Amino acid sequence: MNIEKYDEIRASLPAGVRLVAVSKFKPAEDIAALYQHGQRVFGENHAQEMKAKHEVLPQDIEWHFIGHLQTNKVKYIAPYVSLIHSIDSLDLLKEVNKQAVKNNRVIPCLLQFHIADEETKFGFTLDECTAMLDSAEFQELKNVKIHGVMGMATFTDDQGQVRREFHHLHDIFDTLKTRYFSQNPDFKELSMGMTDDYPIAIEEGSTLIRIGSAIFGPRNYSV
Ligand SMILES: *Cc1c(COP(=O)(O)O)cnc(C)c1O
Repeated sequence: MNIEKYDEIRASLPAGVRLVAVSKFKPAEDIAALYQHGQRVFGENHAQEMKAKHEVLPQDIEWHFIGHLQTNKVKYIAPYVSLIHSIDSLDLLKEVNKQAVKNNRVIPCLLQFHIADEETKFGFTLDECTAMLDSAEFQELKNVKIHGVMGMATFTDDQGQVRREFHHLHDIFDTLKTRYFSQNPDFKELSMGMTDDYPIAIEEGSTLIRIGSAIFGPRNYSV
């Protein structure tokens, strides 16, 4: 783990930008060490892994779910998750609402948009999303609250392209804010920026950067 890099990133954040420390694939001990150092917001992308870590780590950690979420896994995170960044369908949102009702809570969510020039990244198009927001079914969901949008830029060295994609996500945010969420003060989050592109994301208006490898080191996916 690179505490110096962590401190450097924290010190560089403008007011209004929060850091999600992405701890996926990393052991609970690493999270505990960063917690000791003052970090409270952690991001995971597997529901069972998040559940296992939640059970053994301090209860005041804010757990953010950032990866693709299958409907049958929502139950593992619904009791405690602070923010789900990756809502990409009405079916998923309905399941989150259902599990939120069971747990007698309201779950904050972000709408994930497909902004990258890659087939593999999940997310809505603007048309898909507005169709959902206009639907009667969406209006009925009382136990989810939409706090903003999330997106991942293309994995490329072309910084101009990355900037355009983040700019596009900011435009989507503004459009939705005006059309659907002008009366919702909680709709204020723009989750964008990872280890390789977070400085550009911040320049383009990010409020939540999601940083993993710069802090925790490279991930070993084979473990
Ligand atoms: C893994 C992951 C991150 C962090 O990636 P790094 O490049 O290690 O900072 C951020 N967002 C999502 C959605 C991820 O899956």
